[in-house]
Amino acid sequence: MGLKLYNTLARAKEEFEPLQGRRVKMFVCGITPYDHTHIGHARTYVAFDVIARYLRHRGYSLFYLQNVTDVDDRILTRAPEVDIPWDDLGDEYLADYLKTMEALGVTSVNLYAKATDYIPEIIEQVEGLLAGDYAYQVDGDVFYQISSFQDYGKLSRVKLEKLRSGARVEVDKRKRNPQDFALWKSRKPGEPHWDSPWGAGRPGWHIEDTAISVTHFGPQYDIHGAGNDLIFPHHEAEIAQAEAFTGRKPFVKYWMHTGFVVIKGERMGKSLGNIIPVKEVLERYDPEVLRFFLVYTQYRSPIDFTYEALEEARRAYGRITEALERARAELSEAREERGDGDEELRGAIASASSDFFEAMDDDFNTRDALAALFSLTTTFRVDLDRGLSAGSLREFLDAFETYGTILGLFRGVAAPSVDLIDGLIGLLLRLREDARRGGDYEASDRIRKELTKLGVRLEDTSKGPRWRLP
Ligand SMILES: [Zn+2]
Repeated sequence: MGLKLYNTLARAKEEFEPLQGRRVKMFVCGITPYDHTHIGHARTYVAFDVIARYLRHRGYSLFYLQNVTDVDDRILTRAPEVDIPWDDLGDEYLADYLKTMEALGVTSVNLYAKATDYIPEIIEQVEGLLAGDYAYQVDGDVFYQISSFQDYGKLSRVKLEKLRSGARVEVDKRKRNPQDFALWKSRKPGEPHWDSPWGAGRPGWHIEDTAISVTHFGPQYDIHGAGNDLIFPHHEAEIAQAEAFTGRKPFVKYWMHTGFVVIKGERMGKSLGNIIPVKEVLERYDPEVLRFFLVYTQYRSPIDFTYEALEEARRAYGRITEALERARAELSEAREERGDGDEELRGAIASASSDFFEAMDDDFNTRDALAALFSLTTTFRVDLDRGLSAGSLREFLDAFETYGTILGLFRGVAAPSVDLIDGLIGLLLRLREDARRGGDYEASDRIRKELTKLGVRLEDTSKGPRWRLP
């Protein structure tokens, strides 16, 4: 059975076949750092973190690239309001974002690429689009001319004629079509600017992403992800830019989009003033509970955010982690001899694993995957009362370590924590040192040999012993 994912471009689930064997290139639209990281960001980036982790688990060699829109209207509007230089504001909220992602266990991104580091590549793409008559210049601004790109609308399935008649906002009269978008914006007083063949200015939003992705991935790549509010016009614009610039299509093979976060029936958004910052949630809940809450919905479904639902998630997550803690505690006293519950638990682990992977293969259905784990913990409780051997307890914990690595959950429960390993090895080394000082070389040699056998590499330095895990 292969992996299937929902491709927005096809409006259907498709078999996943990367462009180059097992190598996968994934780009996800990153943040514009001008305010605190909110629950909508957490939803999208946790979802793509699980997707990345699962692809790697499946044996794909994945490069995960995320951009940072560090120069943008929203930053430039906000900075004077709070009286902070625009670049400091960006740095501050980027740091806030990265800290939040770390707390939520988002560890899969290979590179965060800031737009301002790609100005030459942006200029090169704008020049190419002008040369190919896909763009035009007006007073130092450069616009993309959407009528020049035949496929415009193929991702969003938006009809241009409809847009024209439905335009409600004031239209820039210099544009040939109201939907033409800025590739380059001429310098305004007080704004950051860079030199270009069209005069000083700064890049438009959409061109940043294609400049970054074409630089790292070339003209075509496998997966582009983001929240589904970016399908139009942002991703439509990206396709128009990249396919016109490189002459190759499709620019991206699979377009993946996460569902909205909904608050009391309404989509969360700045305009509705119902944004929930992640830090507000983390004042009351463990980040792992929030991550579980987000993962407990398949990535395309909307998430209804309420504190009641989060409380429910905390209890549900607790049912799994309590079972894991219990298994760990029992393991320290368990015997190797066969237990009466062994056979049933082993069967339950096998069927839960098969259900788990089947669900993940079906467009990353984390909801169904977690349902399999709930049913496994229920069986575990019954079997534990009947008696379990050390072997089956280990198998149970190992299985959860695998699920946990993929979902980014059960950290420090299924696997022994890093602190614990640190402490235990430190303790052994001190005992070895004591033995050596006391002339018991046999004991000190034995500790060294046993640790080496476990793959721990020891090195005696002038400052004492140092060690490294395999
Ligand atoms: Zn983007």
